[in-house]
Amino acid sequence: MNLIADDISVVTMKAMEFSSVGSPLQMVERPVPMPEAKEILLEVLACGVCRTDLHIVDGDIENTLPIVPGHEVVGRVVAKGDQVSRFAIGERVGVPWLGSSCGRCSYCRHRQENLCDEPSFTGFSVNGGFASHCIANADYCFAIPPNIDDIHAAPLLCAGLIGYRAFSMCGDALRIGFYGFGASAHIVAQLATGLGCKIAAFTRLGDDTAQDFARKMGCVWAGGSDMLPPFELDAAIIFAPAGELVPQALAAVRKGGTVVCAGIHMSDIPSFPYELLWGERHIRSVANLTRADGESFFAAISAIPVQTHIETFPLHQANEALERLRSGTITGAAVLVP
Ligand SMILES: [Zn+2]
Ligand SMILES: [Zn+2]
Repeated sequence: MNLIADDISVVTMKAMEFSSVGSPLQMVERPVPMPEAKEILLEVLACGVCRTDLHIVDGDIENTLPIVPGHEVVGRVVAKGDQVSRFAIGERVGVPWLGSSCGRCSYCRHRQENLCDEPSFTGFSVNGGFASHCIANADYCFAIPPNIDDIHAAPLLCAGLIGYRAFSMCGDALRIGFYGFGASAHIVAQLATGLGCKIAAFTRLGDDTAQDFARKMGCVWAGGSDMLPPFELDAAIIFAPAGELVPQALAAVRKGGTVVCAGIHMSDIPSFPYELLWGERHIRSVANLTRADGESFFAAISAIPVQTHIETFPLHQANEALERLRSGTITGAAVLVP
């Protein structure tokens, strides 16, 4: 028996649905789904637009269609299944990219649920938050800190959280290069500088707006991605989906340093001389997130508060928001508000 909020009067929901590569998202109206035993039904309050959403609609990564994208969901619980013990009706929760994991595979059993063999991903294999309502597995959701409002909290759910996982992969690096300075980098930069790191930001060539923004977010240096920073880097995180940044970042990283590729998709990495990798430099990717990442991320930003910079769009302008992200003209993060 589901528990349902008294004030849920709507029977239909709106969603921006993606049905084929090359076609824009379409507004659809359908019955509001009811949650299964372990699920919650959320009224969506805000949903961030992530670069992964762009990779989905551009066909860079393949998934089952049609799908409602959106995996940075802040919502209010309006109904819950009978096996959901956390979250009260009316409580605000966040839904991240990892929608569920199997709990049985060797990755799940070894604290690597981010690599699960049978995962579901929000807005990719299950419908996400570009909608007025969405369903989520309660076990994979996070409580949203009360001091952050809906629209500013949304980008934390992926840009913040997976950016934080990438930052964790830098180990004890103190001088870190961020290649690409968008939604993820601007959040992690605040956290990293709060922890005493020196961040160098690399942007598209001549992107003065992004470079000014990076300096405002605490970066000690900002320049074009073809430049070398004024100091040697202990590590670099590549947020932009451009493979040519890998050898550029390797060239800027010291012996023993790490280059972390933070995105789900990247253009081909060009061949490069072995000497760039020599000296025990590492290249690695970061895939998805674990629930433990989320818990440590929210703990970290309660100690070192971060301010997300956002631009909001009404839900029906999801295509415009994606286009702005594609053209690199969003400062910070784009957020849809139903
Ligand atoms: Zn698994
Ligand atoms: Zn994302």
